[in-house]
Amino acid sequence: MKNKKVILTGDRPSGQLHLGHFVGSLKNRVKLQKEYDTYIMIADAQALTDNFENPAKVKDNVLELALDYLAVGIDPTCAKIFIQSQIPELFELATYFLNLVSINRIGHNPTVKEECKSKGFEASVPAGFYLYPLFQVADIVGFNADLVPVGLDQAPMLELARDVVKKFNATYKTEILNMPEPLFGTAGRLSGVDGLAKMSKSLGNAIYLSDDSDVLKKKVRMMYTDPGHIKVEDPGKIEGNIVFEYLDVFCEDKAFVMGLKEHYQRGGLGDMKLKGHLLEVLESVISPIREKREQWKNETGEVQKIVSNGTNLARERARGLLSSVKKEMLIDYEEIIKIST
Ligand code: ATP
Ligand code: MG
Repeated sequence: MKNKKVILTGDRPSGQLHLGHFVGSLKNRVKLQKEYDTYIMIADAQALTDNFENPAKVKDNVLELALDYLAVGIDPTCAKIFIQSQIPELFELATYFLNLVSINRIGHNPTVKEECKSKGFEASVPAGFYLYPLFQVADIVGFNADLVPVGLDQAPMLELARDVVKKFNATYKTEILNMPEPLFGTAGRLSGVDGLAKMSKSLGNAIYLSDDSDVLKKKVRMMYTDPGHIKVEDPGKIEGNIVFEYLDVFCEDKAFVMGLKEHYQRGGLGDMKLKGHLLEVLESVISPIREKREQWKNETGEVQKIVSNGTNLARERARGLLSSVKKEMLIDYEEIIKIST
């Protein structure tokens, strides 16, 4: 275990996981969990930055998120699933890292700008939300992560993390912090069923990994296609057509998708028929996950044990890293004063 490189990744418990998470980062995590020493964070403190008025929502989703992880194939015998708020070392680390970035740098994060817009935070953004990328840097560096499997919307956060590592190592003339590399999913950033923005828990445009067949059918039926494609015989557009975006991402049979595209562009392929094909593809992706989730749901005690164990192991690692960082920054008084802990 010692020589393995480290993965740190996670999600906010602001709702259940959806197809965007699946292709954005979950698939990569499952693939790499044995090769890397893997830490998966349930980011409850980060979720509170824009849900502080509704803490019950965040708390209720903590174990739901753990269920989603187990359902997609995260193996608790190798990956550590943990709760962010229970690792105080990460917040202490963030306090020290605040010195290494400028307010301007924090303000130039395109993902946060976009999120502020969609949350109506433009006039007055809560400081916790504004600064969450810096806290995310502390999460990544708190585990001294080598690799961070995330969706494309996290690229600016990873850039910030790399800048902080560079600055820290240069300032204190050390090499203790690893340079974290992002690992983006193949789909980049999956659009929501509305076609307006990325699929997101907070935007109500997501297909969840736990959706039952009826809900899935309804969501596929309301998917955005080509507004100009009115009659079946009309030629239809592929660009901006969400059904084709999903088929490209989720259908393994690329020749079949190519055939559908040609038919649609030529005219004669109706939206309902096209959506029927997508429904079949998505059902085959989601149904095994849904079944596994139901099984884990009956073992709540076991899930709690998995998260407790993961949190204890995560805390141990973060404690070690924080202690090394503090030594470099001369926040180290053990020889001068004794404090009982
Ligand atoms: P919220 O709306 O609460 O921000 P979210 O749906 O954006 O939720 P997060 O918990 O913020 O989900 O993101 C967790 C991880 O999933 C991140 O690595 C993020 O990049 C990735 N991810 C989220 N949505 C998508 C998407 N639509 N496509 C690809 N990756 C995604
Ligand atoms: Mg998000």
